[in-house]
Amino acid sequence: MLYSQVAGQEEIKESLIKSINNNKVSHCYIFEGPKGMGKYQLALIFAQSLLCLNFLHDPCNTCKSCVKFNSFNHPDLHIINEDEKNIKREEIDDLINSVYRKPYESKRKIYIIKAAESMTIQGANTFLKTLEEPPGDTVMLLLTTNSNLLLDTIVSRCQIIKFKNISKETIMQELEKYITDKQIIELAANYSNGILNKAINIVRGEDNILHQRQEIIKLFDKIINSHSEIIYELENYFDQQKDNIDTIIEIMMVWIRDIVFVNNNMDNLVINKDYLQLLKTHGKNMKKNSDLIEFMQDISDNIRSNVNYKLAVSNMLLKIQEDFK
Ligand SMILES: [Zn+2]
Repeated sequence: MLYSQVAGQEEIKESLIKSINNNKVSHCYIFEGPKGMGKYQLALIFAQSLLCLNFLHDPCNTCKSCVKFNSFNHPDLHIINEDEKNIKREEIDDLINSVYRKPYESKRKIYIIKAAESMTIQGANTFLKTLEEPPGDTVMLLLTTNSNLLLDTIVSRCQIIKFKNISKETIMQELEKYITDKQIIELAANYSNGILNKAINIVRGEDNILHQRQEIIKLFDKIINSHSEIIYELENYFDQQKDNIDTIIEIMMVWIRDIVFVNNNMDNLVINKDYLQLLKTHGKNMKKNSDLIEFMQDISDNIRSNVNYKLAVSNMLLKIQEDFK
């Protein structure tokens, strides 16, 4: 493996490489960031680097350690919670048992703990003991979407590495490896929120946000061109979409923001460029000084904090109608 196989995160890569070259490797790292940011892949490359016999800026991929590593057959690499479901007590017990043994064939033993937040309290407390007196030849890599979900006593003993969203340009370059359609590439990059794997799933069709986008654009058009009864007619639709409401609101907010851009002659910032004509038509009907985007943000927050879902949705639809008369 090579560091270039993970897109973006250049600062993180640099600092990890430096820590090896300067002999300043910590005994515990927390890789924190949303799903799909490449945390696991970078953890694997870092682990390989730590075990490689000829490491420079990348693992050499030819030494006997690298060969074993690349075939997932390295006895000093331990992966815990591979399926990210939950960390079983036995897994922590096995970890504790092996931590105090010598590595099989390298200078170090590496433990990658996926979804580390799913450790039970007992498991976490047992694990903590290894961090209080860390064996010098051990490196722990804890992966998590949110370090607040880990015990403070664990966090304070680790070096936290926060994964940042990847720039739109980097994501677009990566997507060119998968498809050639520039318009889809740009849409996927825009709708991925800086998460590369999400963008890749969009262009592969495994994430259907672009399909939903078309559905929501049609729905939006229907809402603003109908009488208020439409709100009751749509009740069923929104009931069925309850699990999906965050995505729907996100698509609507992007759409409304695009309308505002078009109204301010900022067409270059529009995301839904393939609907420019419809955006302009909507723009003519939009109330001046509309606060719809802020309103939608509040609705989204309210729904997350479990207010009356039906009421929140009908308020949202009413407000959309009101601002597009
Ligand atoms: Zn090597």
